[in-house]
Amino acid sequence: MTRGAPALVIGGGIAGAAVAAHLAQAGHAVVLVERSDGPHHKVCGEFVSGEAALYLEDLGIEPAALGAVRMRTVRLGAGRAVATAPLPFPAFSVSRRRLDEALLAAAAERGAEIRRGRGVRSLAPCDGGWRADLDDGDAIRIFNDRGAMDARAQVTDRVPAGVVWMRDGWAGINTLTNGGRAVPEAAAKAFPGGQAAYEARVEVAFSS
Ligand SMILES: Cc1cc2nc3c(=O)[nH]c(=O)nc-3n(C[C@H](O)[C@H](O)[C@H](O)COP(=O)(O)OP(=O)(O)OC[C@H]3O[C@@H](n4cnc5c(N)ncnc54)[C@H](O)[C@@H]3O)c2cc1C
Repeated sequence: MTRGAPALVIGGGIAGAAVAAHLAQAGHAVVLVERSDGPHHKVCGEFVSGEAALYLEDLGIEPAALGAVRMRTVRLGAGRAVATAPLPFPAFSVSRRRLDEALLAAAAERGAEIRRGRGVRSLAPCDGGWRADLDDGDAIRIFNDRGAMDARAQVTDRVPAGVVWMRDGWAGINTLTNGGRAVPEAAAKAFPGGQAAYEARVEVAFSS
């Protein structure tokens, strides 16, 4: 399968990480954006049924290796009355702090690009696709087949969807990351403050 435009997965909880892992395994380019910048606990009973365990095994995750504890009984309480019965299926309990990280690692192992500590601010339909507004300050790479520039993103309503505006002027714009010049030096000197006519089709991707 060819790798086209990357799929964007927003949120690296159990659902997002599992989707990213499966997409990457199927050969898709995937970028997963997770707001938290590291492992953290979640509000959750941390009960995992045997059925769910099969999905984890499918991704190469062994619950015991994450410190999972087997659950064998179910207990119901109402007032002073308590009823206990064996669970009709195998189950266990595992820390979400560990489980979510294991799923993110499984996604990364399969080739998904994991971006932590940044969030998607808004998502809106745009030009037959979707536009995701990311947090300001993300490190990005702006590139085309002539070269690339590294920059920090600033998301603003003043720049329409699908357009990238670089305010560097020629001092930055004419110096490609590969060291080459975008236009001859003489042409650059003619427009020291930058020139709107010098526009180009570019791609934008996260950079590390
Ligand atoms: C009290 C309680 C007990 C529960 N007990 C159980 C249980 O015992 N067993 C069970 O199977 N389920 C339980 N659940 C349900 C379970 O927690 C959820 O079904 C599960 O967490 C959903 O996974 P998710 O990946 O969809 O979302 P989440 O686990 O919530 O993950 C979403 C992720 O997206 C990130 N994110 C959010 N917004 C953005 C953004 N704009 N940009 C980037 N990242 C973003 C968040 O940081 C988060 O990591 C319980 C839920 C609650 C509330």
